[in-house]
Amino acid sequence: MADIRVERLRKTFGTLNAVDDIDFSFPQSSVTCLLGPSGCGKTTLMRIIAGLEEPTSGDVYFGDRRVTDLPPSKREIGMVFQYPVVYKGISVRQNIELPLKSEKIPPAERARRVDEVIDLLGLRDLADKDVSRLDNGSRQKVAVAREVARQPRIILFDEPITNVDATAKLQLKRAFKELTRRLSQTIVYVTHDQTEAMTLADQIALMRDGRIVQCDAPRTLYNHPADVFGGWFLGNPGMAFFAAELVGEGDFLTLLSPLLPAPVAASGSGSGNVTLGIRPEQILVSARREPGSIPAMLLRKSIQIGGQHLLSLDLADATIEPFKAKVSNEAGAALPESGEVWISLPLDRVTLFGPDGARLPVSFPFTELVAV
Ligand code: ATP
Repeated sequence: MADIRVERLRKTFGTLNAVDDIDFSFPQSSVTCLLGPSGCGKTTLMRIIAGLEEPTSGDVYFGDRRVTDLPPSKREIGMVFQYPVVYKGISVRQNIELPLKSEKIPPAERARRVDEVIDLLGLRDLADKDVSRLDNGSRQKVAVAREVARQPRIILFDEPITNVDATAKLQLKRAFKELTRRLSQTIVYVTHDQTEAMTLADQIALMRDGRIVQCDAPRTLYNHPADVFGGWFLGNPGMAFFAAELVGEGDFLTLLSPLLPAPVAASGSGSGNVTLGIRPEQILVSARREPGSIPAMLLRKSIQIGGQHLLSLDLADATIEPFKAKVSNEAGAALPESGEVWISLPLDRVTLFGPDGARLPVSFPFTELVAV
């Protein structure tokens, strides 16, 4: 069941469509990350759901209830912002308990809920400390704990990790992952950080220019982007793109590309000039000629965090721009620093996009390269 539904939602600022006619449902008891580049409308969409921003047109529903005109306080939601909102001068425990007191929750239940979230967020050692003495990361945990203890059906997070240092970021990410795994609440989580979204989300709603362009499980979104934008935005670096050509029809398509040693059989729909996309880590690179490989020039090899090697490659073909591939530590060590190498594209990892940038429903009957 959808817990939050927005219908024909639009928000304009002057001539700018910050939220551009969005119809979308956020599934119950799951974490949906709104992900996208700066200015794509994530925060505006979340603020409309929270009631902090009035939509220019359209509606917001929580379950069957239309909440478009309700103020935030009447929406029974929890909110966590970029900067932790905490009450200084009182302890962590008191911070968490305060809203429960004003909601007139009986003392025994209050104590139970406070203890539960203190454990959930790993705040046990800090429970009796004044929040003024905590770092920003721990304060943010307190802010989250306070919202969770209220047990609203919906909790909205607006970039809660952005303003803490790198170590605290990692800790908070771990704490949130554990928290969201255990909670049954519906969570909407705004971030521009794809690794955060990949770690935390049950599904990612990818936004661009005020619209949700794709919503899928993180792996699906990563491996099967609906358009060139998803391929480019996700990944570090994003997909490598190459011009290619599809000829024929239906089950008798042929794909031609300078990256393939020979034309290959394909089926589906689409023809003419297309874009071939592949994730850099899915390009196979070898020091020796392998079946189905073509020669390439290794321009540079650099080591990345985690020991992977990032390779800059080029082809003798003038229509191909230099591109990146990523290989494991071992595979990278077996390659020369520069010079001739051999590359091949596993066809089951290749995505084709049409001239409008949308993914084409084209598949390859043979995952091995088969010349036609
Ligand atoms: P970021 O990651 O940078 O926060 P975002 O995806 O959350 O970006 P929004 O903050 O929702 O994007 O902004 C969407 C667009 O609307 C941007 O172009 C922004 O400049 C504009 N905008 C947001 N709030 C206002 C406002 N109050 N007045 C005018 N323009 C606004």
